[in-house]
Amino acid sequence: AKQAGSNHFQFYVASIDQEIRERKQLEKDLAQALAYHQFHLVYQPQINLTSRRIIGAEALLRWEHPDRGMIPPDRFIPIAESNGTIVEIGQWVLDQACWQAARWASEGTPLRIAVNLSAVQLRQESIVEDVLETLERHKVPAGRLELEVTETSFMTNLNDAVDKLQRLHRAGISIAVDDFGTGYSSLTYLKKMPVQHLKIDKQFIRDLLINEEDTRIANTIIDLGKSLNLTVIAEGVETAEQEYYLSQRGCQLAQGYFFSKPLSARDFEHFLKSFHDR
Ligand code: C2E
Ligand code: CA
Ligand code: CA
Ligand code: CA
Repeated sequence: AKQAGSNHFQFYVASIDQEIRERKQLEKDLAQALAYHQFHLVYQPQINLTSRRIIGAEALLRWEHPDRGMIPPDRFIPIAESNGTIVEIGQWVLDQACWQAARWASEGTPLRIAVNLSAVQLRQESIVEDVLETLERHKVPAGRLELEVTETSFMTNLNDAVDKLQRLHRAGISIAVDDFGTGYSSLTYLKKMPVQHLKIDKQFIRDLLINEEDTRIANTIIDLGKSLNLTVIAEGVETAEQEYYLSQRGCQLAQGYFFSKPLSARDFEHFLKSFHDR
């Protein structure tokens, strides 16, 4: 037994060692990914459950690694956040998303684009100016941009976050709380923050109709949204039953594989046509 135990220990050390090496390699590759044009955005439609119309899209980042293929954002975003490269990458995302929004508007399909804003980006001194400058440069009206921020963004310096989000909101940008209920939720910041949207995380939607706790959590978020006058959007909607339940319960917006997975800009345009022509 002792023998086996020590083998386990060696295996454990070896795998940590490998994990560290892989992370270091990814970190190195990440630093060059922008310069080598390895990033692109995909867009997932957001649907109004009452009007059954596509009201916007969430832009999601994809990294096509030259040797390893597609690396999921959950793998590389935390690395980019810990070494600060997320600032430059996030600015690229914003720029690309605004460029796309301008293009769609010029083609007669003005859509609201939701962009994920890392807590690290929000801590940047110049973030408000950077966002507004990007909108201006692409001539995108601020009302067409939504920023998705997580609860962790409010934790390090609440007043600083309030101040910046207020300035962004006053300019016309809408703010959504992403992954709502998964972090250190506090009703204090909901009161202080100029937020207009709550996103129910997909972990509560997956078993929405199977697990009673998830049903209650989703209901609670929908009711909270109603009483605070916030639009609630459910993410990760995969079935017609989930969609039906959520719309009956009063959740206004949804996104998920049931409607569409995230799509390239081109595929998104086709989807938009076929969805509204049904
Ligand atoms: P998120 O912001 O919570 O995004 C939702 C994730 O759920 C996306 O994963 C999306 O592809 C996935 N999803 C959408 N519909 C469904 C569904 O019906 N079922 C399931 N199982 N999943 C669904 P993705 O694209 O892999 O992104 C993962 C996370 O990476 C995002 O979570 C976000 O936190 C982060 N991320 C992605 N792009 C960016 C970015 O440009 N900037 C920053 N800071 N973070 C990003
Ligand atoms: Ca998001
Ligand atoms: Ca989420
Ligand atoms: Ca997230």
